[in-house]
Amino acid sequence: MPQEKILIADDEPNVLDLCRRILIAEGYQVETAQTGNEALDRIRQQPFDLLLTDIKMPGINGLETAHIAKEISPGIICVTMTGFSTMDTAIEALKLGIDEFVIKPFAPEELSMSIARALEKERLRKENIRLRSLIPLFEFNKTLLSTVKVKTLLHHVLDLAQNETRSELGILFLDDSGEISEHMHPSLPPESHDQTQSLRLEMAHWIMQQQRQLSLRRGEAASGRFETLLEVLNVDYLMGIPLVAKEGRSLGALIVGKKSEPFASGDSEFLQVMAGQAAIAIENAHLFQEIQQAYDELKKLDHMKSEFINIAAHELRTPLAILLGYASVMAEEATGLDRERLNTVVRNAMRLRTLIDDMLNLSYLETGQARLKPEEVILRELIQHAICDVSNQIEEKSLNTEIDIPADFPPMIADRQKLDLIVMNLLLNAIKYTPQGGNISFKAWTEGDKAVIAVNDSGIGIPPEEQDKIFERFYQVEDSLTRQHSGIGLGLAVTKGMVELCQGRIWVESELGKGSTFFFELPLRQSQ
Ligand code: ADP
Repeated sequence: MPQEKILIADDEPNVLDLCRRILIAEGYQVETAQTGNEALDRIRQQPFDLLLTDIKMPGINGLETAHIAKEISPGIICVTMTGFSTMDTAIEALKLGIDEFVIKPFAPEELSMSIARALEKERLRKENIRLRSLIPLFEFNKTLLSTVKVKTLLHHVLDLAQNETRSELGILFLDDSGEISEHMHPSLPPESHDQTQSLRLEMAHWIMQQQRQLSLRRGEAASGRFETLLEVLNVDYLMGIPLVAKEGRSLGALIVGKKSEPFASGDSEFLQVMAGQAAIAIENAHLFQEIQQAYDELKKLDHMKSEFINIAAHELRTPLAILLGYASVMAEEATGLDRERLNTVVRNAMRLRTLIDDMLNLSYLETGQARLKPEEVILRELIQHAICDVSNQIEEKSLNTEIDIPADFPPMIADRQKLDLIVMNLLLNAIKYTPQGGNISFKAWTEGDKAVIAVNDSGIGIPPEEQDKIFERFYQVEDSLTRQHSGIGLGLAVTKGMVELCQGRIWVESELGKGSTFFFELPLRQSQ
């Protein structure tokens, strides 16, 4: 079913009504006007696809009406009805841009066919223009896709619009949250600039609000209050196109102006297609800018946070070392209840030291201060020492530990301190998240020139959707308000950072309620 909007102009009510009925029956949206001026007013108020006009009308005749209609709305198709058709009228009509004739009296099918033919011709013409515009638009698109700087984009848009329509003047208005900025090429002398500023803005607002094309010709009544503008801008023809974003929001308006020569047929379609693409590109560039700003802000915050962690950790470390030193000596010397209490102080101070060490290690990793010192390491011994160091906590929860490393597992060349930290962090987590009486096991094997180490526990497990996130800084599966386990969510981030520093990788396999296995893979022989 056709959806085109048709305006019929005829001073004879009977003909008007007949045409209206025929075209409505064909499925068109139809409006009517009884004079040329009434028709032109309608066209100024809303867009029509086709004007069907009688030639002989009181006031301005059909040919003039069609001619002005084309100036107001360059894309409109004009079909004239005439009772007689001489060669002269036909030639004059063609000169004025009439697309099709219907000779009166006509049968309903004749009118329908003429209208359909004119619409089809116009469709083909537009298709043709679209195809012709493809090459410059394709080039334009390439530029748009690779440009995220709004200023460069605007420059390209104006450039192409002016070049392709051979316009001497180009103005681009952009609405930046209610404030309209203006980019003009070439710029006006200061006094003409100031003199017409409010008119230029008024025009931009009109195009943006109506979301319609505006076509003006110097000396034509329809130009009305914008006549002065044409004069000062020193152009005879102006065409304005709205820049409409994806959700129908007006982003701005593109205006081009020409001296003496009118716009060619097809200029309007070209500018519309171009304006559509430019609007998307400008919107994307704005979004990119916003994201970039947010990203810079985040980077600043992240940097401040790293600084804070670094300073806090350094400042806490020394007093804590003193506290820990004195408390350990006093615990050794004390007896009975005092000794028990002092041991509690020592244990908690050690926990605090682990946290501070995590903070410091993270900061070393972030600032690139962490360095590798490879040396020979016997993995089984390193794991045994780690288990021994935390035997108190293992015993407290009655956990079973097991090490399953083949006898022929070769000595590794690794950074002992880093490997120790990785093993210790995974072991401490396994202890923390495994309930009383559970099992913790270490397995290791070789795969080519890599060692793969697995730390398995029979603990609470990790939900599948959380398994990637737990390696992020400060990420904890449990809600901080209802947490049952201590910690600040840095251990795994540091562990992952250390593994990666050693050119390895770490991952987890886990089932909720059944336990987790953390795997990490390192080069058997770490290079410097
Ligand atoms: P935290 O200080 O919270 O232990 P980590 O970075 O070491 O921080 O671990 C991040 C989160 O990963 C923990 O809060 C916990 O929810 C989860 N997690 C780590 N290891 C285990 C494990 N062995 N079993 C179950 N959950 C674990």
